[in-house]
Amino acid sequence: MLKRDIVRPPLHIYPPDEWRIVEARFAPAYLPRAETVFALSNGYLGVRGTLEEGRPATAPGTFVNGFHETWPIRHSEEAYGLARVGQTIVNLPDACRVELFVDDEPLFLPTARLRQYERVLDMRNGVLTRELLWSTAAGKHVRVRSRRLVSFEHRHVLAISFEVTVDAPSPVVLCSRVVRHDSHQRPHVDGALLDPRVGRELDGHTLTSRFADCEDGQLHLGYRTARSGMSVAIGVDHEVDSECAHRVTASAGADASEVVVVADAEAGVPVRLEKFATYQTSREVPAETLRERCGWTIERARAGGFSELAAAQRRHLDLFWDRADVVVEDRRVQVRAQQAVRWNLFQLAQATWRAEGSGIPAKGLTGAAYDGHYFWDTEAYVLPFLAYTQPRSARNLLRFRHSMLPKARERAATLGQRGATFPWRTINGEEASAYFQAGTAQYHLNADIAYGIRRYVDVRGDEGFLVEAGAEILVETARMWEDLGFRGPDGRFHIHGVTGPDEYTTVVNDNAFTNLMARHNLRYAASTVRRLAGSRPEAFEALRAELGLEDAEVEAWDGAADRMHVPHDEARGIMPQDEGFLGREVWDLAATPADKFPLLLHFHPLAIYRRQVLKQADVVMAMFMLGNEFDVEEKRRNFEYYDRLTTGDSSLSASVQSIVAAEIGDEESACEYFDFALLMDLCDIAGNASDGVHIASSAGAWMAIVFGFGGVRDHGGQLAIDPRLPSRWESVAFSLRFQDRQLRVHLGHARECYRIDEGEPLDVRIRGRRHRLAVGSPLELAVPAP
Ligand code: BGC
Repeated sequence: MLKRDIVRPPLHIYPPDEWRIVEARFAPAYLPRAETVFALSNGYLGVRGTLEEGRPATAPGTFVNGFHETWPIRHSEEAYGLARVGQTIVNLPDACRVELFVDDEPLFLPTARLRQYERVLDMRNGVLTRELLWSTAAGKHVRVRSRRLVSFEHRHVLAISFEVTVDAPSPVVLCSRVVRHDSHQRPHVDGALLDPRVGRELDGHTLTSRFADCEDGQLHLGYRTARSGMSVAIGVDHEVDSECAHRVTASAGADASEVVVVADAEAGVPVRLEKFATYQTSREVPAETLRERCGWTIERARAGGFSELAAAQRRHLDLFWDRADVVVEDRRVQVRAQQAVRWNLFQLAQATWRAEGSGIPAKGLTGAAYDGHYFWDTEAYVLPFLAYTQPRSARNLLRFRHSMLPKARERAATLGQRGATFPWRTINGEEASAYFQAGTAQYHLNADIAYGIRRYVDVRGDEGFLVEAGAEILVETARMWEDLGFRGPDGRFHIHGVTGPDEYTTVVNDNAFTNLMARHNLRYAASTVRRLAGSRPEAFEALRAELGLEDAEVEAWDGAADRMHVPHDEARGIMPQDEGFLGREVWDLAATPADKFPLLLHFHPLAIYRRQVLKQADVVMAMFMLGNEFDVEEKRRNFEYYDRLTTGDSSLSASVQSIVAAEIGDEESACEYFDFALLMDLCDIAGNASDGVHIASSAGAWMAIVFGFGGVRDHGGQLAIDPRLPSRWESVAFSLRFQDRQLRVHLGHARECYRIDEGEPLDVRIRGRRHRLAVGSPLELAVPAP
């Protein structure tokens, strides 16, 4: 049950368009959200969608994935093993600024003399464009066209093209700046300070300047973070292209630097400025060394100019859309639905395309909320999308997790456990969750990672990854589970003192999701080790020697899995969320006023924890992830029981509820929840779209289409498709990369078509029947009557 209204932005401001997000007029009321909606990123570098003139702006932001500052977490009441070091992504100096003066009059919006305005995010080209016509106080008409991109080709590069044309001779000044914002949070109003989801405000001393100078018109800035010791160098260069007389000056400073173009503009003759900025960061190398790298990158970017960067952007996005596009024919609001679907997919491209060697922050690089941390969102939400569309990126993400293993081992030791425990939220591999009840206690993250490995390996058919990294994680997490749980007097294996995905119930015994996922982790670890012993004996011996792995251990994992206790309520035929859950008082959600959501901002945690009320899908999440372990009636009973208790206060919930609703044939709920996931940010359903994109919800929208309505499953490495096309859709088409085959699926109400474009023949179970798909012979099926 979600007590939220979907308020669509007005059509005259945001008209529908299949491939573009269009802002057809300047709308200050939507500005905070628009900074998120129009944010650009490539997974390494991200900038918020602020206007070039820098005003009005609510929360400007420039982020490099993983570039963070640390700070001491001060617990007013200390305890052993609590997280001690906070980590927060740093808002870097902002290179998006280009200020315009005509006759010394600055362009600043809003102004009554704005004649035309349009801002467009083109999701095929990956370019953000703004075009406006402004008449100055002196009555001159000024046409401005700016374009911006964060390059998919050169991951360190941001480029802006800014073009001004006047209709009468005028002095035109373009002031291209790099400015430092000391804080990146939106102003703290309406209790936002109390919102734990908003990231920490870093003070003005985070970045210490190492150098700020200009050389041949190129700006060079270098900084080091005060505590984490990370370095960043920024290089900015410009190209001025105009037949009007002009001169260029430059000056650099640690807080603000600028390149100023002063032109005697002639009527109808454009003054064009191209700006290329590069950000290079490192934990090891000082900013002085990075400076040189900036020089090389800028030279490359500048060589072809903005147009070449834009052409490369298109090439990358063509690849992305070929693999990831989803075409929805909606009977009612076709274009709008398609636009929203593509915007969410585009967010996934932006969050992941060049995120090599790092994780995916909960907000991608579109905002600093959640401090730029990586959570289970990565493996449980983003990874499925990547496994089926960009397997190389999926592998990179899992490799990145693997690089955190040494710290995860240390963390397990601190917590008194064998094996490894990955941090609930982190950038640098250390636990950054100060609130252990809804943080460290979420041990399920370890099983989610193991599940992600299973899915990636099966979907790509990449057993080599197990040898390279996967098996080590599986062994260490299985060790942890076997050690964390215990054999109770009933002879069953229990796991106590943990928190499941639902953060409105914490530190409980036998959370069903955790126990089921731990069982999967234990079994998969055991079967992987055995398989490797047979298929890759040398690699297995190396693993065994390195990890000191004993046969008896592997047997103990099987034993723990076989005896795993899974709570069950006979009378209701459902799975209690945890052992004590059904004994608690039921929260009356129907009687809770709409302005009391999310509950976490209005009620003390204890008032929430002692009741049956959910922030997000928990048992229902298990019904989806481990769907092969339950029959449809069990799914229905559990869905119905938990649905009325679920607030959806977490954006991770709706997509999963949609998938399970689709599976049990509750089309209405499936569609309703799908809309929540799909429109989470575009319609600002959670009320905090201004803080950044809810990336897990974007990925969840894809999952709801493919796994929910598409009915795709891959349990046991077998691809199965059981479509449930909702009646509101005419058809849906999507693509899946599966074990080196490119599968194209088109689902209609009367006919369905499945074809592979590439690779060997593939066996797929469609509606329970086995079919062999081969290149060149598409499979057309008549849809059976319901
Ligand atoms: C959710 C978590 C999620 C985190 C980051 C929280 O509100 O409860 O499940 O990992 O947000 O998206």
